[in-house]
Amino acid sequence: MTVRTRIAPSPTGDPHVGTAYIALFNLCFARQHGGQFILRIEDTDRVRSTPESEQMILDSLRWLGLEWDEGPDVGGPHGPYRQSERGDIYAEYARQLIESGHAFRCYRTSEELDELREARKAAGMHLALKPADLALPAEEQARREREGWPHVVRMQVPASGTCVVQDMLRGSIEVDWAQVDAQILLKSDGMPTYHLANVVDDHLMGITHVLRGEEWINSAPKHQLLYEYFGWQMPELCHMPLLRNPDKSKLSKRKNPTSINYYRRMGYLPQAVTNYLGRMGWSMPDEREKFSLDEMMAHFDIQRVSLGGPVFDLEKLTWLNGLYIREELDDEGFLRALMEWAFNERYVKEILPQVRPRVETLSEVVPLAGHFFSGLPRISEESFDAVKLSREDLLKLLQFLVWRLETLPAWHKEALLAEVKALASHFGLKMKEFLAPVFIAVTGSPSSTSVMDAMAILGSDMTRARLRHAIEVLGGVSKKQAKRLEKEYREL
Ligand code: GLU
Repeated sequence: MTVRTRIAPSPTGDPHVGTAYIALFNLCFARQHGGQFILRIEDTDRVRSTPESEQMILDSLRWLGLEWDEGPDVGGPHGPYRQSERGDIYAEYARQLIESGHAFRCYRTSEELDELREARKAAGMHLALKPADLALPAEEQARREREGWPHVVRMQVPASGTCVVQDMLRGSIEVDWAQVDAQILLKSDGMPTYHLANVVDDHLMGITHVLRGEEWINSAPKHQLLYEYFGWQMPELCHMPLLRNPDKSKLSKRKNPTSINYYRRMGYLPQAVTNYLGRMGWSMPDEREKFSLDEMMAHFDIQRVSLGGPVFDLEKLTWLNGLYIREELDDEGFLRALMEWAFNERYVKEILPQVRPRVETLSEVVPLAGHFFSGLPRISEESFDAVKLSREDLLKLLQFLVWRLETLPAWHKEALLAEVKALASHFGLKMKEFLAPVFIAVTGSPSSTSVMDAMAILGSDMTRARLRHAIEVLGGVSKKQAKRLEKEYREL
């Protein structure tokens, strides 16, 4: 048997460090067994998936040196590798399941579903809707079918009993079937859900081992059942521990930068980031901290993964990055790294239109554009002295902006402008007044290049990191304050 693993990201946002972490372990596992590593794009969520996000994911994994053998960009014998291009395949398998009685067309309206859930809640039962809840009287089912009501396809699931799933790291995981709902397999628009598409593709693409984040454990019983229904051999499952913030909460962009773009913009070296991700819950047999991807592949053993939530600690990563800069780069390599990072034509060209109208000599360029080539600006409380807002309003303004930007689906100037305008009017401020503190937070000085353009160029995580930094510099927002602010923010 040839070992085949895969990473199956959904292109719905910035390329997440968690994706790179899972990709790294899949790659190492495959290579250690002389197998193959596949990249598949799970873009069945047509509303949230974007080609830009897909491109960023491919770029950043490649930047980290995580190469795949088959994928949407390199092709392969099991394509297409983008789920949106495989619609007919899923429809056919859903049809097979209906025919064999393992799935059914469900014509329930959303109001009816709400009522069913309410009824279960009132009866003190788990909210998972079961096939028996959903069944309509035969006549009504026939009428809705005849009249062509919108419907979904759902899978049959046992009403009770225990499902046991084997996990390579966790052994037997037991799940009560009563908690597992009659999962939707095909949505009313005919698109598959993650569950159907994932199982069908893993099978058709010959995947033998599925290493994925522990947040998918709850899906495993449904997947196992689907494999049984189809009569297919299920890949071995391995649920990796989730990355955590130093306070042990789940790594989230609210607290820490999670986009690989951020680490790239911040000037981390790809070798150091990949090395650090390899330290997440895993260690070399000799426990050394610094190792290359090749060394990790050579010594890889999945059983050395420990399940206690690995902490993604910026300070540790920064320390490791320093080692790489000092020990791995000669002058020539350092120069190349710098050029690749930001002193390259593509990036500098982006910056030039920002500085041209504002300089009279070339020597003014660097001081003016420094914020494009740095991390968190050197600012203090006093930097905000000229801003005519109370400390409280200042903090509120910055915090609200951070929250708004967190949910922005596409990061470009127009979208940013719309957010800023909306917030400025909420605060009853003119754009200029609203932007004054933002300017200082993002560029580090009260007058510089256009702050909106700077935010667009710096990207989402770097911009938010700078805004959060400004909040800290201004004394921070306590948990209690955050609660109050959040309430007001929700009412916006
Ligand atoms: N599309 C899922 C994700 O975004 C894949 C989960 C899996 O590996 O099964 O992570």
